[in-house]
Amino acid sequence: MPYIIIMELKSKIPAGQERKRLFISAKTGAREREKTIKLAMENECDTLVFSLNDIVFSGKKNLKYMKLAKKYEINIEAGGCDLPLFLPGRLFMLNRDLFRMAQGKRKNDHHFCPTNPKTISIIAENAQILLTRAVQVVTKPRIFHLLPDKGHENTWCQCPACRAFSPAEQYLMAVNTAADIIAKLDPQAILVYIDFDTEPEAEGVCPRKNTVALNKFIF
Ligand SMILES: [Zn+2]
Repeated sequence: MPYIIIMELKSKIPAGQERKRLFISAKTGAREREKTIKLAMENECDTLVFSLNDIVFSGKKNLKYMKLAKKYEINIEAGGCDLPLFLPGRLFMLNRDLFRMAQGKRKNDHHFCPTNPKTISIIAENAQILLTRAVQVVTKPRIFHLLPDKGHENTWCQCPACRAFSPAEQYLMAVNTAADIIAKLDPQAILVYIDFDTEPEAEGVCPRKNTVALNKFIF
């Protein structure tokens, strides 16, 4: 069974652009992928969402499914729990300050230290590369997704600078960085993120205009 997430996005999406989508995890095997288009049809999904990892790194193998999806007039969207692609864990060895702090120690597990300007500049650089590739395969009007690490949505940085921001705000800093890149690549495109802040009034980081917040997301 493919690892899928079915989500309906209706609020804030302009009329006529509502899509019922099926997420394909980067962990889904090749054989399972062949069933995904059938599964999408059975679940009345009109959209497949491929992770950026799939789009950028899996080469021709995955393009075959994307072509097939297009043949069946299924929309292609890009993204998912792709934050580790924006700040690769291999940077940890020499650049610990880029990563999140917990109990005074830097950790290379989930997310990063978003108030470090170097972190944001690396995220912007990688977002530019990944999203430039993704724009080429995503169906117009383009919709991208940037979700926090599954099961660790609230696991963010506790360094002295980040402590002033909630996990939701720290996540939003990364979302906004990607949203700025997307706005330059395609001014009509939308970036979907999860708003899990329990105190919206205290929001200190404002989401960009080209983003859409989901209040919850069913994994
Ligand atoms: Zn920090």
